[in-house]
Amino acid sequence: MSNVTVCVRFRPLSHKERKANGDNVCFRKLDSESFVFKYEREEDVIFSFDKVFYEDAQQSDVYDFLAVPIVSDAINGINGTIITYGQTGAGKTYSMEGPSILHCNEQKTGLVQRVVDELFVCLRSSASTWTVKLSMVEIYLEKVRDLLDLSKDNLQIKESKTQGIYISGSTEISIVNSSDALENLSVSVLEFYSECLSLCRYEFIFACLSKLQQGIANRAVGETQMNLASSRSHCLYIFSVQHGSTSDERVKAGKIILVDLAGSEKVEKTGAEGRVLDEAKTINKSLSALGNVINALTTGKQNHVPFRDSKLTRILQDALGGNSRAALLCCCSPSPSNAPESLSTLRFGTRTK
Ligand code: ADP
Ligand code: MG
Repeated sequence: MSNVTVCVRFRPLSHKERKANGDNVCFRKLDSESFVFKYEREEDVIFSFDKVFYEDAQQSDVYDFLAVPIVSDAINGINGTIITYGQTGAGKTYSMEGPSILHCNEQKTGLVQRVVDELFVCLRSSASTWTVKLSMVEIYLEKVRDLLDLSKDNLQIKESKTQGIYISGSTEISIVNSSDALENLSVSVLEFYSECLSLCRYEFIFACLSKLQQGIANRAVGETQMNLASSRSHCLYIFSVQHGSTSDERVKAGKIILVDLAGSEKVEKTGAEGRVLDEAKTINKSLSALGNVINALTTGKQNHVPFRDSKLTRILQDALGGNSRAALLCCCSPSPSNAPESLSTLRFGTRTK
């Protein structure tokens, strides 16, 4: 019934965690879908999800399971979204972007680069005319900021018949400008071109990713007492794929929204006050709005989905609801020291099922 796939990813223990607790972890693997969660203050609990990625899971495993169906659906006109959820330091950004957004053609490359790459490959080999537009925004204190142009710091969310839900005036990078460029080339040039495909693919991706890197540098970060530059905003990569037989007859195909959520940690733990407390409150509110929306969708209460309760859920409305396809990756630290936060992340994940 539900088009929401819910997965868990345990990152490897960090040096710090290993120093504090040795090789101890907060779970015992049962199989690729379930594990026993061990928490000293409560009884052991068995959790099951659509898929569990343990420490040794590769970025490509996550991509293949979560993203491949979403990318191919988007090309066929079905919207999709992939969301990473979890406390700060749990591996959300690593899953999305890898160690750095400029890492590509490598094992550690994240979901974003892999989506860019796959779209490039699909569109290059497609007979029809395609365009992919990419924008990057963050939601910070319930305001939508354009990460590709910081002068646009309060973008409005709108809805139209042709575009569905969209962020009005956001900067868009054109990823592939159709097959037009190839049309007038001679056969020999085309052959040359295809030999160079991997090089040009790399250059193309690099050009696109360097723009995204600027956007990432623009993300709001705040120091908390956890002594981490924790992300206090939700970061959204919005890909919209359009196709049409002629340039004046564009048909909307589908969009993919990748969401790197703000940290889900409880505010008491970080001893926050003032602005940091405001941030925490807005984050909690939008995360619970997201949980409520997914819960309404997966339990079949499709008529009463509270999309308008937050900017986040409003933007995701037509990429989560309807016949779209969504995936939630619940990121957890494997360390017993983070067990309370991991448990809360896992509960969020089960509540959405
Ligand atoms: P978050 O975005 O949830 O706050 P990060 O993605 O920044 O967390 O991860 C925190 C740290 O853990 C980073 O140093 C990151 O490189 C590392 N890390 C996270 N996931 C993995 C993984 N699967 N493999 C190796 N290192 C990881
Ligand atoms: Mg992060």
